[in-house]
Amino acid sequence: MRATVMYGAGDVRLETLPDPQLSTGDDAIVRVVAACVCGSDLWPFRGVTSVTAPRQVGHEFVGVVEQIGRGVGVVKPGDFVIAPFYVCDGTCVHCRNGVSTSCVNGSWWGSPDRKGVSADGGQGEFVRVPLADGTLFPIGVTPDPAMIPGLATLSDVLCTGHHAAVSAGVRPGSVVAVVGDGAVGLCAVLAARRLGAAKDDCDVQASGPAGDGAGVRGHGHHCRPGRCRVAAVHRLTGGIGTDCVLERVGTQQSMQQALGSARPGGQIGFVGLPNGGPELPINQLFDSNVGVRGGIAPVRDYMADLLPDVLTGAITPGRVFDLQLPLTEIVEAYSAMDQRRAIKALLVL
Ligand SMILES: [Zn+2]
Repeated sequence: MRATVMYGAGDVRLETLPDPQLSTGDDAIVRVVAACVCGSDLWPFRGVTSVTAPRQVGHEFVGVVEQIGRGVGVVKPGDFVIAPFYVCDGTCVHCRNGVSTSCVNGSWWGSPDRKGVSADGGQGEFVRVPLADGTLFPIGVTPDPAMIPGLATLSDVLCTGHHAAVSAGVRPGSVVAVVGDGAVGLCAVLAARRLGAAKDDCDVQASGPAGDGAGVRGHGHHCRPGRCRVAAVHRLTGGIGTDCVLERVGTQQSMQQALGSARPGGQIGFVGLPNGGPELPINQLFDSNVGVRGGIAPVRDYMADLLPDVLTGAITPGRVFDLQLPLTEIVEAYSAMDQRRAIKALLVL
């Protein structure tokens, strides 16, 4: 099969590798229909994180089950499935508590599973999926090709934006600010509106260096980085601040922006942490009663809730993809995102 291998900074290649084989009994082979390039895939590509040995990459994909191991009983050949960005069993105590990212048997794409057998990356033609019954989410229908981009966002970005909204306690009438205007930030806007956030054009906004970006209805407000945005949030809210802030960038500056935007007693939902991340000012949190909650998004736990609205078109998260390419153009997909010519790339197989 052809699959994407990361060699190091600026060096990602499409290579021919052996087709994956069933090995653990509870795994499945999925034929990939579409895969995404994630912002975190750019870290090794940019040299932000080091690559000690070439490894298969890609952790957002959808596809069709081709084969199942003898212990697999939920998913079956022919099922159209969505893969979360991690492997989980769906049965351990943390999975049952809705924190499947902390699964005691969990692992990552392109890395060894709990039995030491490496799982494939998602940016390839086929993937061996460990713990297939817990990991894969079968959508129950054969989707129209036009639905594929929206379904692919359930693999990570839509569910991660939703996690920010849930963590921030968004409810009907909430006034919400969104910090970050990449794919997750745009999905956070959709998720907040879906949960009933106030719909006035100035009440929900993605703010970032490129304004509110493509795919989500414009909100009419743009301003410069830093304090300007905090000042704008206060101007728009009569000096109060917002009930909820969805923070998906994870830098010192973005967290300060979030803290400055929340009203006293407000709640920040954070879902981004690129490299180390900021420390929190406990005194400021104490004085303001602002809460900070969130973390790596347990996306597998949100898929069943969000899928119906994607299938009906009630939300259209597939619009976050502003670049669609065949897998053979994987290098261009990375380059376009690295050079900010694209917000998010979808690879269609
Ligand atoms: Zn588990």
